[in-house]
Amino acid sequence: MRIDLHTHSSASDGTDTPADLVRAAKAAGLDVVALTDHDATSGWTEAAAAADEVGIGFVPGLEISTKFRHRGVHLLAYLPDPTHPPLVGALDRIIAGRTERTPAIVAALRRHGIAITEDDVRRESGGSVAAGRPHVADALVRLGVARDRTQAFTDLLDPGRPGYANRYAADLEDMIPLVTAAGGVAVIAHAWGRRGRSLLDEQALAGLRDQGLAGIEVDHQDHSPADRSELRDLARRLDLLVTGSSDYHGLGKVDHDLGVNTTDPEQYERLLSLAGAAR
Ligand code: AMP
Ligand code: FE
Ligand code: FE
Ligand code: ZN
Repeated sequence: MRIDLHTHSSASDGTDTPADLVRAAKAAGLDVVALTDHDATSGWTEAAAAADEVGIGFVPGLEISTKFRHRGVHLLAYLPDPTHPPLVGALDRIIAGRTERTPAIVAALRRHGIAITEDDVRRESGGSVAAGRPHVADALVRLGVARDRTQAFTDLLDPGRPGYANRYAADLEDMIPLVTAAGGVAVIAHAWGRRGRSLLDEQALAGLRDQGLAGIEVDHQDHSPADRSELRDLARRLDLLVTGSSDYHGLGKVDHDLGVNTTDPEQYERLLSLAGAAR
């Protein structure tokens, strides 16, 4: 069983449509794939239909933008009820924050002398409800300002760069119980990526587990072999489940091919058994 529990489609900042992503997962030899678009469930129906068609397992999920101690944390939520009103409300607020940020980024870039417009960005984010910096990056590439997404982030869109603008994110400690109340399973994405190690240490993770956190994503490209082995031990001590995933974004992220990391079938079974528990 090859199980990949973290991917992005054009419903957020990936470049494959949800159906194409599922077909690519089948072609990559996966047995189960989760779709975890940023802050959006809009790709689920199409992906589920495609999974039925090609005969692989499908897990509906999300990667929710949250903050913890003033730092950004991505929270994976598997199998929540997408109509649960508090969840819908929380996601609407995050999406509104994304939508409001685009004009701020465009204005900042224009002040920096780059002739980009909101329409340029809208052309790239067309099918997505979750407008994001990757769409601005794609617009910058099309305008010839950047070579690829990575260069656009490094030169212009990362924190501290001329085109950076902040946006609203939910509180992680509110979001974990909310996801659980919606029948979902909460797992911290790339827990120790980008300086996460000091933020999400054992004590912090123990506290989050007590609030309902079910697991941590351990096998992820942002984690070194040493990080993975330490995180795995930590998860065992805290009785958290462990996942592994690609964080595939289609052509939007290099070195994140489908199935590059996978989740152990036993851990996957445990995740499924937790879903719906609070509903
Ligand atoms: P946003 O959610 O709009 O703040 O943008 C963050 C997203 O940008 C993340 O989900 C990543 O997928 C993507 N991202 C961040 N840095 C890079 C990079 N250097 N190259 C490509 N994508 C990136
Ligand atoms: Fe992304
Ligand atoms: Fe992420
Ligand atoms: Zn992701």
